[in-house]
Amino acid sequence: MRISIYSVPFFVSILFLFFGLVSCFPDQNRNRGIDEDSYLILISIDGYRYDYTELFEPPTLTRIKKEGAWADLIPMFPTKTFPNHYSIVTGLHPQNHGIVSNSFYDPERKETYSISDRKQVEDGSWYGGVPIWTWAQRRGIKTASYFWVGSDAAIGGNYPDYYYKYDGSVPNEERVDQVVEWLKLPKEERPRLILLYFSDVDKQGHQYGPESEQTKQAVLAIDSMIHRLRTKLAEEVDLPINTIIVSDHGMIAQQACANRIDTRLFYDADDFEAVIHQGTQVQFYLKDSVRKDDVMKRMRRKANESKNVNLYERAQIPEHWQYNHNPRIGNILLKANSPFFFSEKPCEEEKTIGTHGYESNIKQMHGIFYATGPNIRPHTRTKNFKNIDLFPLYCSILEIPLPDRLDGHRTRLESIFISNKARKK
Ligand code: AMP
Ligand code: ZN
Ligand code: ZN
Repeated sequence: MRISIYSVPFFVSILFLFFGLVSCFPDQNRNRGIDEDSYLILISIDGYRYDYTELFEPPTLTRIKKEGAWADLIPMFPTKTFPNHYSIVTGLHPQNHGIVSNSFYDPERKETYSISDRKQVEDGSWYGGVPIWTWAQRRGIKTASYFWVGSDAAIGGNYPDYYYKYDGSVPNEERVDQVVEWLKLPKEERPRLILLYFSDVDKQGHQYGPESEQTKQAVLAIDSMIHRLRTKLAEEVDLPINTIIVSDHGMIAQQACANRIDTRLFYDADDFEAVIHQGTQVQFYLKDSVRKDDVMKRMRRKANESKNVNLYERAQIPEHWQYNHNPRIGNILLKANSPFFFSEKPCEEEKTIGTHGYESNIKQMHGIFYATGPNIRPHTRTKNFKNIDLFPLYCSILEIPLPDRLDGHRTRLESIFISNKARKK
């Protein structure tokens, strides 16, 4: 093709225009890349007490705590596994998300929910609120969960894009390796929010006590899992990943015989439609036919004889516990003071010497929050905060709006968050 000399300036100007336009794009693309590509792995180490890192010196968690932002995480009442895991992913108090304890009775459904009953655990109709995986999916984000409480139930008809039915026997290595595999999926299939759960530290804490050698070994074993995850991510995945490590509650030592309170002293089973025993508290659901005032009077007389218990009518439960607006909370709550616990069997048969479930202001009930990654301010000790305050941090990292319905503080963790815009500068 013959090119006329007159056409050169034309080509040159076309070329300038082209490169001019292209040279504008890389910056925008880079910005967009940063904007789109922040990932979040939320890890729960069940029952990891606020002071285990200092007590047992796990090397990886110690490093992560120094490297990123950290605080003691304040659980919700009751400081049990299910209500707290579900508060962590909904930003709601247990009375507002409906999982008011590990076991509870619903007087309207006339059914009992219990974490050991697979049918109930997998029935999404028990769970209120919108968990973060559903909230993120609504904005087109893929999500995955390896065993987070609630993720194997169709909540509002929805599951995470990738999830498994809970099976505590699945080795931790397998859970970690699957997280890495999820992150190696092609972009369209790859989850940007991943939840991961480990139960071992809680289990050993119950069986051997929080300060036992066995609990220490469980902490070190989970530490090596987090090390495995970090190493694999560094070697096999090139993505801007934020990691938030939390626990649902702590653990306190108890003496099976010295701290045992016989629950049977306090009530007459005939008065109740259901009585739900939870070790650290007992919930009583009155029959319609009995008078609450009469029952309370009798129970109060008994409760006043012990300085190790508190008895509440639901409406009288201290306001700051945020635990009196749901019929799934018994009409009457009998609570043991730490480290006492209720039981109906002889203390020789008690298998646990560690427990949790007491009020959130008991220090031994506090858990951990360690966060690290490109969107987290490094080397930051932030003020201790409630686990319902976490939700806005997930939204900031994933760049999605906050829900209207949120019990947590909307800006509590703003100071530890670094936006992608700020990262570029
Ligand atoms: P607890 O110490 O009684 O508050 O509950 C801890 C137990 O909850 C752990 O030992 C786990 O076996 C169990 N658990 C945790 N997550 C799930 C889940 N998604 N489904 C069923 N059980 C679970
Ligand atoms: Zn737990
Ligand atoms: Zn536990």
